[in-house]
Amino acid sequence: MKYNLSGKKTIETLLKEAGFTFKKSLGQNFLTDPTVCPRMAEASADQNTGVLEIGPGIGVLTAELAQVAKRVVAIELDERLRPVLGKTLEDFDNVKVIFGDAMKLDLKKIIEENFSDCQRVSVCANLPYYITSPIIMMLLESKLPVESITVMVQKEAAERLCAEIPGRDVGAVTLSASYFASGSILFNVSRGCFTPVPNVDSAVIQLKIRKEPPVKLNSEKAFFALVRAAFNHRRKTFINSVSSSGISGKAKIEQALSQVGVSATVRAEELSLEQFAQLTNIIFEK
Ligand code: SAM
Repeated sequence: MKYNLSGKKTIETLLKEAGFTFKKSLGQNFLTDPTVCPRMAEASADQNTGVLEIGPGIGVLTAELAQVAKRVVAIELDERLRPVLGKTLEDFDNVKVIFGDAMKLDLKKIIEENFSDCQRVSVCANLPYYITSPIIMMLLESKLPVESITVMVQKEAAERLCAEIPGRDVGAVTLSASYFASGSILFNVSRGCFTPVPNVDSAVIQLKIRKEPPVKLNSEKAFFALVRAAFNHRRKTFINSVSSSGISGKAKIEQALSQVGVSATVRAEELSLEQFAQLTNIIFEK
């Protein structure tokens, strides 16, 4: 490879040549630690894997993925990076960059069109932090044919996404994500590993997509609505938080809790995934 893409000097030179300045609003903090991307690539791909990357930046992770995976498709929102990526990825014939918004593109179609000859597909990315949860939930909810999602996120988001249920760190996103996948934190990454240096530390997590949902739901939509309502007011009891959202009345919720054998004063974080599923099926019975 011609470029040392995690070298701060290289990054500065490449970006200067392209007249590029960082946009905080797009979550542009580029990795400068040479050890992180190889570890992410190893964890998410082998020679039979097609990898979808979101937000390649100057291509530091893309280049590592290209060396271990069968093919890489990277989606970048910022058109200003087109000339930079044209240079940094020119040596790879198994990489394609699509310029567009990962939240708006048809990812299912992109996977079908690019990875039909791959045995498996995975997602690997150093995510823009301003849309971490929306991107992860979009990837999960759209039920893409992917085996795993390996992403760098803010440390707090990592802890929330991979928290043990029930538990103090659990939030709506923990329950929603664990319906689709089982998550674990692979390793931590300090803020000093980026340029510009962000205000937060990071962690790389891996979500392994479940083949079957772990609980039986009459309605997924109702489950996600109940989870959101339950964590809307973390300090309130489950009954008060859910009823104040307007999706169900207090009496019905109280009756459902009693049927599931749970105290009327329970908080959302004290409930298991199975109990959330049972409550959904009772409160929103057909
Ligand atoms: N992968 C590079 C690295 O590790 O150095 C850059 C990661 S940087 C944290 C996030 C990248 O996501 C930026 O390149 C940014 O322009 C891009 N981005 C932001 N919003 C996006 C979106 N909606 N769709 C696709 N890319 C996006």
